[in-house]
Amino acid sequence: MLRYKHVVRMLKRRSYSVNQAGSGSGPGNDDEDKHPIRRTLRLLGNDMRKVKEFFVPKDEAPEASKDTIPTQSKFKFSGERDRDYTLPEDFQTHCDVLVIGGGGLGSSVAYWLKEKARDGLNVVVVEKDETFAKSATRVAVGGLCQQFSLPENIQMSLFAADFLRNSKQHFGNEVPIQFTPHGHLLLCKDEDAEALMRSSQLQNELGARNELLTADRLAARFPWLNTQGIALGCHGLELEGWFNPLALLSNLRRSAAKNGAHFVDGEVVGFEFRAQSDMSVVAGSNEGSYNGLDKAVIHLADGTRRTCKFALCVIAAGTDSSNVARLAQIGVGPGMLQVPLPIDSRKRYLFAINSQAANAPGMGMPLTIDPSGTFIRRDGLGGSFICGHNSQDDSDSSAVDPQYFEEHIRPKLADRVPALRDSKVVDSWAGFYDHNVYDENGIVGAHPYYHNMYLATGFSGHGIQQSLAAGRAISELIIDGQFRTIDLSRLTFDRLIVERPIYEISQVLS
Ligand SMILES: Cc1cc2nc3c(=O)[nH]c(=O)nc-3n(C[C@H](O)[C@H](O)[C@H](O)COP(=O)(O)OP(=O)(O)OC[C@H]3O[C@@H](n4cnc5c(N)ncnc54)[C@H](O)[C@@H]3O)c2cc1C
Repeated sequence: MLRYKHVVRMLKRRSYSVNQAGSGSGPGNDDEDKHPIRRTLRLLGNDMRKVKEFFVPKDEAPEASKDTIPTQSKFKFSGERDRDYTLPEDFQTHCDVLVIGGGGLGSSVAYWLKEKARDGLNVVVVEKDETFAKSATRVAVGGLCQQFSLPENIQMSLFAADFLRNSKQHFGNEVPIQFTPHGHLLLCKDEDAEALMRSSQLQNELGARNELLTADRLAARFPWLNTQGIALGCHGLELEGWFNPLALLSNLRRSAAKNGAHFVDGEVVGFEFRAQSDMSVVAGSNEGSYNGLDKAVIHLADGTRRTCKFALCVIAAGTDSSNVARLAQIGVGPGMLQVPLPIDSRKRYLFAINSQAANAPGMGMPLTIDPSGTFIRRDGLGGSFICGHNSQDDSDSSAVDPQYFEEHIRPKLADRVPALRDSKVVDSWAGFYDHNVYDENGIVGAHPYYHNMYLATGFSGHGIQQSLAAGRAISELIIDGQFRTIDLSRLTFDRLIVERPIYEISQVLS
């Protein structure tokens, strides 16, 4: 009530000075003010800004220079028309939440935070390469399916299916997500059949829809499939398919920016710490020595270095997540900080192939995953397919080994889908994803030592479909203090401390 009265007083004062302006002196004495509609809009705009300034909590005054520095983006997504990322933006020296990494995970965190809190939270996303040239999100196939063995993974993918099927309601029509509904077909050998049956039962109990097919039924349903050595297949009937990961990224960024998130073209290269004697020291660290995270040191695209003081930060830096964590002493500090963030980089090859064979799989072909890990899916019409496999190549280079397809993929494809034996390779590319070497599942939630650090990383080969649920989960922890939509407490960093890995047995993961 008090606030309301204050606002009314403020508006009255404002209209008084407007009258003054209208009477001949000051900024109102121009052509624009002679036009009644434009003048009303301008005055209303000013007053609304004042009202907003009153209600929206202000950041503390910046300590350093108040000069603004431009942050620039080299890369502009198609469809991001509401905000021009090439325009300079005020660098935020203070923020509520600093997200490190602007790929699928980081942008999803920003999207959900701004969806829920709007102006109540100042959210800054720092991305070191706005071309996303090396980001996993840029190269992902965009496969979406629920054929996991862990309830958390199944639920996250169900959440994504629901969101993506209704993407126009969330994002509008500007950048279509291109969701193509299509089942996945996960094939297994005799020794894995029982596990596949158990997983399928759980998936259906949780809301997925898939069917188990014996080798005979597989052969009858998919005549192009060689079922030799296959005991069982699990075929998705609903809620599965593939989408365009870059379109999802573009929409997440665009929507978050529209709601006021700030995107900074820069790299987090360090943290500044603050000794907090009032903090109760967590077990495992030295008594009385709690050093909280206070600021991020950011190397900006224009070559300057700035710091941003944050209340909370989120590490969503993909394959670089453990390097960023190390900047915060995670993995190199004492006590609980000895436990590293176990994220490694895993290389994966993709090949676009074409076959004009008369008996090649047609429109009804599901995304098919062989027990060897080789997968293939249709890519539009005209005999085009995308296939891939995990490579064992540890090099940092994103070059594709030209022999890899011939040695590792063609023999498997020729065996499983004989009609594709003579397919032509028309394109190939390689990408790296953040692989959790501890138990291959995502790490989501608060860090057990730092009360103001959250993690959203390590999703291996299923991270883009799970980015929506994981980002939402982080926003719930920050705003509501608990997981609300899906209970992901088994996926927090705590499992590394108490040594309780949580394994996913599905091949879909790889
Ligand atoms: C070939 C391939 C196919 C895939 N197919 C699928 C699929 O079909 N379905 C599926 O669900 N998933 C798939 N994935 C996995 C999926 O792509 C990833 O799990 C997901 O995109 C990870 O998103 P992210 O935001 O964590 O990482 P990224 O997209 O890599 O984003 C992390 C970002 O952090 C930035 N960054 C790093 N360090 C810093 C720093 N210090 N300061 C500022 N910024 C920093 C990086 O520049 C990067 O842009 C695939 C991955 C690959 C490689």
